[in-house]
Amino acid sequence: MSFFSTRGESCVTASQAILRGIAPDGGLYVPAMFPGVRPERLTSLPEMNYEQRAVNILKHFLEDFSLREIEDAVHAAYGPDRFTHPDVAPVKKLDSATWALELFHGPTLAFKDMALQLLPHLLKLSAEKNGEDREICILVATSGDTGKAALEGFRDVPGTSCTVFYPLDGVSDVQKLQMVTTGGSNTRVIAVRGNFDDAQTGVKELFGSEEFREEMSRKGKTLSSANSINLGRLVPQVVYYFSAYAELLKQHAVAPGEAVNFCVPTGNFGDILAGYYARNMGLPVNKLICASNRNNVLSDFFRSGIYSTHRTFFKTISPSMDILVSSNLERLLYEAADRDGELVRTWMTQLKECGSYSVGDQRREWMADVFWADCADNKDTLAEIRKRWEQDRYLMDPHTAVAGHVLREYRNATSDDTPAVIVSTASPYKFAADVLRAFGGDTVRDPFEAGAELERMTGLPMPEQVRRLRELPVRHTATCDRDKMGAAVLDAFA
Ligand SMILES: *Cc1c(COP(=O)(O)O)cnc(C)c1O
Repeated sequence: MSFFSTRGESCVTASQAILRGIAPDGGLYVPAMFPGVRPERLTSLPEMNYEQRAVNILKHFLEDFSLREIEDAVHAAYGPDRFTHPDVAPVKKLDSATWALELFHGPTLAFKDMALQLLPHLLKLSAEKNGEDREICILVATSGDTGKAALEGFRDVPGTSCTVFYPLDGVSDVQKLQMVTTGGSNTRVIAVRGNFDDAQTGVKELFGSEEFREEMSRKGKTLSSANSINLGRLVPQVVYYFSAYAELLKQHAVAPGEAVNFCVPTGNFGDILAGYYARNMGLPVNKLICASNRNNVLSDFFRSGIYSTHRTFFKTISPSMDILVSSNLERLLYEAADRDGELVRTWMTQLKECGSYSVGDQRREWMADVFWADCADNKDTLAEIRKRWEQDRYLMDPHTAVAGHVLREYRNATSDDTPAVIVSTASPYKFAADVLRAFGGDTVRDPFEAGAELERMTGLPMPEQVRRLRELPVRHTATCDRDKMGAAVLDAFA
């Protein structure tokens, strides 16, 4: 299997795509074709565990990896010391037609772990296959969740290191604690005096600086990013759509071949795009329902065919979806454009230069065949958390609740009663204070107190990953100015 760029003709192997991250023409790597998974293979998935399902799906994409390499990488990523649930991504029944696919049983309690636990191993193997023997040095600027997920993924993976910059005034107390208590001999966490933009611009400048790259190279290191556009983050996400279907078969919730809908809380469009890839591979999916928060650039796009960033940016209680430019949408645009890289390039240039583009009615209708989209504001989100708890005794985090609300809207609007899976992307204990607000408890702002209160109220145990956070020693205390980030990295490797 080879991979093309969404903006041109370049043709690379899986390991080259993973190592490069982004194509030289600025495009994203996409599979040359979608490997078909035959229906009889689908019916063998329920007997497999998550690791076996992962190997079975991943081998179609990772053709220049040996089966043994994939098996070892998958085991290192999803083994019991990493994921606390024996099913890795369990599926829970909410009501007679609705299930939740839980993707938050990894080290950082959110869905980014599903990909970021595997990516470091794929990256390491990709380097070996392409004669890259320098240490892979990951640089991340984070506004919160991605930083910790990257640190946990790369922690103690040989041949790699991970340095995360976070804005001194811009992450929550829990997020900061999560990062500065990270263990491992190859992780570094540095606070930048400034906001998220300062940290992000700083990292971009380091990637763009020839001088910095050369200095790192002299130390035997090469720079890389763990960005959500990396193919190595996308393919692990295809697995859990198949796994969810296998779980439904196992629970006799659907008959073999019967279609299901997935409703996905969406920001950068990576998660839901993996569902689209699974559908193209033959998974019986009827509709993919794209759920946005108040930053509803995507629901407007699916309705109008116009993507426009001329709008206000809102901070919401589902912060991991507070995004105006959904970078992975480019991979869907490539399919909508009938794989015409020139056309995609034109749209992306318009987006960059004018802040918007239009795909036209025909392509909008083509997408509407598979995608349906709507949004939920904070009030809808809190109401949904409360309703699900009262009706189904299921506690949702705010991101998941956005999807829960949008699924109700979808069913009201279409009367489609196809069995639906809500993709549940974070543990409610990760956002305890906001979840508690759904039940009128808006006086508790301390996250640990709020967690304890939630535990009392629901009887659901607080995950160890949160509980032990208060006791772990702080291991990273470095702080630097915005213009000293390069020096801070070089110092760390002195
Ligand atoms: C990143 C994230 C999302 C959004 O996923 P995308 O792939 O960016 O669309 C949703 N929920 C949580 C908790 C996340 O961390």
